[in-house]
Amino acid sequence: MIMVLMFNRHRTRIVAAMSALTLALGLASCSDSSDDSKGGSSGKLKVAASFYPIQWLTQQIGGDHVDVSSVTPAGTEPHEFEIGTKQIAELNKTKALFYVKGFQPSLDDAVGSLSDVSAVDLTKNVNLVHHEGLLEHDHGDKDHGDKKDGEAKKDDGEKGHEDGKEHDHAEGRGDDAADPHFWLDPARMKRAADAIAAELSKKDPGHADAYKKNNEALQKKLDGLDKSFQTGLATCERRSIVTTHTAFGYLADRYKLSQVGLSGIDPESEPSPATLAKVKKYVQENGTTTIFTEELVSGKPAETLAKETKTVTAVLSPLESKPEKGDYEAAMTGNLTALKKALACK
Ligand SMILES: [Zn+2]
Repeated sequence: MIMVLMFNRHRTRIVAAMSALTLALGLASCSDSSDDSKGGSSGKLKVAASFYPIQWLTQQIGGDHVDVSSVTPAGTEPHEFEIGTKQIAELNKTKALFYVKGFQPSLDDAVGSLSDVSAVDLTKNVNLVHHEGLLEHDHGDKDHGDKKDGEAKKDDGEKGHEDGKEHDHAEGRGDDAADPHFWLDPARMKRAADAIAAELSKKDPGHADAYKKNNEALQKKLDGLDKSFQTGLATCERRSIVTTHTAFGYLADRYKLSQVGLSGIDPESEPSPATLAKVKKYVQENGTTTIFTEELVSGKPAETLAKETKTVTAVLSPLESKPEKGDYEAAMTGNLTALKKALACK
C-alpha cells in the first residue's frame, strides 16, 4: 500500500477517492444530523479553503463567525500537494470548500466524492486567461502575440465567466491551460471575495450582515493594495521580471510588466538547458538586475543564472503558502518593495 502511494500518483487519487466514498457512506449511516456535526463545537461555521490566499480571503470575510481550515498544509507547495484520505474526511466535516479548479488535480478529484459540502470553484468568478511566460514556448505565431499590452489593460477581473470568448481563448490550447495564479492580482481577489461572501451568507444567513460588512472592508483593503502597486510601479527604469515559475502573469498584466519564467505555470518542471540559455540572453539584452526566487521552490536555477549574468537574486512571493511572517497583504507589500528595487522605480 505504502509503495503504491509513493510511486503511483494517479493510483493515489483513486485510492483517496474510494476511501472518501467509504467515509461518506459511513458518515451518512451513523449520523443523520450532519448539519449539527458541521457547525463545530465552537458554534462557528466550519469551512475549508484549498490553500493559503483563499483561506486568508475567507478569514477576512468570516471573521469571528467562521472557522476556516486550509486543505493544503502551511509550508507545502500547493502545485505538488496530493490530498490524503484523512484530509478528505476533515473536508467532509465542513459546510463549504472554496477552491481553484484546475490548480490541484487531486483536490478536484476529491471534490466529486464530498458529501453535503458546497464546493465553490472560484475560477468561475475571476476570469482566468492564458499566459505565456516561458521563452521556449514563444513560437512567434500570431495566436501568441496578442497579450502584450492592450488586452491586459482592459481586463481588470470584472468580467464574469459568461464571457465565453476569453475563456475559450484560455482553454482551447491543449496543454496550455488557463493560468490559475489569479490571487496575485488584487482586482481578481476582490471578485473571489464576493463569491466567498455570498456563499458564507447563504450557509449562515444569521451573520450575513457581518459578512457583508467584512467584505466591504476587505474590498477597500484590496483596493488600497492595488493602488499602492499602481503608484509604486508607475515609473520604473525597467519593466521586465525574471521569475522562478510563471506565477506572476496576472500581476504583470495589471501593472504593465512582462514576465519570463525559469519554469512554467507549474514549478515542478525544471528549466531545460535551452530555456536557461534563452533566459540568460533575455537577462543580458534587457539589463535585468534581479532573478526572483520563491520560498518553496529550489532557488538553484535562479542562483546559477544570477551567477552567470552577474545579477542578484531576491524573493518574490507567489503567495502559494502562508507567509512565515504577516499575511497576504503584508507579503504583497513585500513583493511591491522587491519589485520597486529590482526595476528601479521612483
Ligand atoms: Zn504557482
